[in-house]
Formats: sequence, C-alpha cells, structure tokens
Amino acid sequence: MVTDGHNHTKHFSPDAGQSIDELISEAKAKGFTRIGITEHYEVEYPDDGLDWTFDLKEYDKTFEIWRERAGELELLKGIEFGYVPGVEKEIERLSALIPFDVVLLSVHLFRGKDFYVDRECYKLPAKELHGEYIANMAEMCEKCNNYNVAAHYDYINRYADNKSDFVTYDECPKEFDRLFEALISKGKALEINTKSIKKHIDGGFTRNLPDAGILNRYRAMGGKYITLGSDSHFPGTFAVCYGEAIEYLKSLGFTETVYFKDRKPYFEPL
Ligand SMILES: [Zn+2]
Ligand SMILES: [Zn+2]
Repeated sequence: MVTDGHNHTKHFSPDAGQSIDELISEAKAKGFTRIGITEHYEVEYPDDGLDWTFDLKEYDKTFEIWRERAGELELLKGIEFGYVPGVEKEIERLSALIPFDVVLLSVHLFRGKDFYVDRECYKLPAKELHGEYIANMAEMCEKCNNYNVAAHYDYINRYADNKSDFVTYDECPKEFDRLFEALISKGKALEINTKSIKKHIDGGFTRNLPDAGILNRYRAMGGKYITLGSDSHFPGTFAVCYGEAIEYLKSLGFTETVYFKDRKPYFEPL
C-alpha cells in the first residue's frame, strides 16, 4: 500500500473539517497501514481571520496521544510550511524545533495574494502565470534546506478559470529544471497531489493527471523520490484518486514512490 503522506485535521489546520479520529477511521477502512499528517503552518499570510500558525510543542505532545489512538495505523508526524520570499530562515528554525518525520514546503500565494480568493492572477497568460509560480517553487527549494517534499506544484491550476489551463513542462522548462535541480541535488522529493487530480475532474478541466512531460523530465534529470498525497481536509477525501495516480505513474514506467520517516526516505513499490 502506497502511503498517503499529506493530510490535515481541524485540530491544527484552520481550513480542515475532519477530526483525527475521522481520519484514522477512514484510513483504516481504506486498508492503509501508514499515513502522514501535515498540518498547515504559514509564517506570513494575508489576514483572512484564520490562524495559520500553532504551537509546535503542543502539536508534538498531541501527536503522542494520536499515535496511541491510532493503534496499528502508523502516523507520520509532518507539517506543511507555506513559503513566501524571506521566510526561509524561520522555516529552517521551526523545522528543527520538534522531531518531524516529514516536512512539506508549499507555495499557497501568488504575488502575496491567495489566488483561491483573489482572482487577479488568472488574467495573466497561463504560460506567464505558471512560469512565475514554478519559479517561486524553485526559489523555495533552493533557499530552504531543512525539508523533505515540494508539495503540489500544480496548486495554481486547481482554481483556474480557464478549464483548459494546465501546468506543463513545455510551458516553462527552465523553471522546472531549476526546481528539479534543487530537489535532486538536495535529496528532496516531488509530490504528486491527488487532490489536484480530483479538483481537475470535478472542475471539468480538459486534463486531469499530471503532465507526463514534467514527470519524465524529473526522472531524466535523476529524480528518484516521488511522494503521493491526497491533501485531505474533510471526511471522505482521504486517498482520493489514488488508484488513478498509481496506474498513471506505472504507465509512465515508474515503479516506486517514497514516504519519509524520521526525515529519511523509504521506498514503496507501486
Ligand atoms: Zn497546500
Ligand atoms: Zn495540504
């Protein structure tokens, strides 16, 4: 079973609506033996009335209780840091504060704005928008060091107005190469986010699965670490589109993914 390494609970992520018990039950019911919990932490974020930070020491303590409650299901203690330029030192500090199994880095903002709410960026030509977004991810992966996974490179696509928009390698090859160079040289992983696949399907996008050009190039450059995560926030969404993602990766010739435990990668066959 391929680990679902990216999930949220309402106890620490302000946009999540599932309890730890709901998540544990669903993971067990779906036959999983190991899951990652990666709560949101935004060092700098536009004021939207929500609290995107939390006490890491309290999280560390709570996690021990969760592990007891989870029984046979292994819980990987993770976090998802949102990146904007300038927060890299703080992310480095926070990543070292408690013993995480896995640290995800994400870009949730475009030019300082939450594009889920502020639609301005979608007026840009898709190639320009995607190129700048991937360049931001590359910068994040270059400037930060104490992390394991670059999450949802296609996040900018999820909320696009134009349903034929899609992040592809050919749109911004230089930016993707920069991102992959940073990940590969530092032993970090690229995430395939299956919530993005679900969003594309539900949103009526003309394409749903990650661009083969992106994955093939990552592998050609020497990328070995791919993680899978459903980014679940609500009951019923754990491991969403996992079957589709696994079959797709196999069709491209991938044979394994990784999960991180105690910050080290472990391979799992597809
Ligand atoms: Zn995210
Ligand atoms: Zn997430």
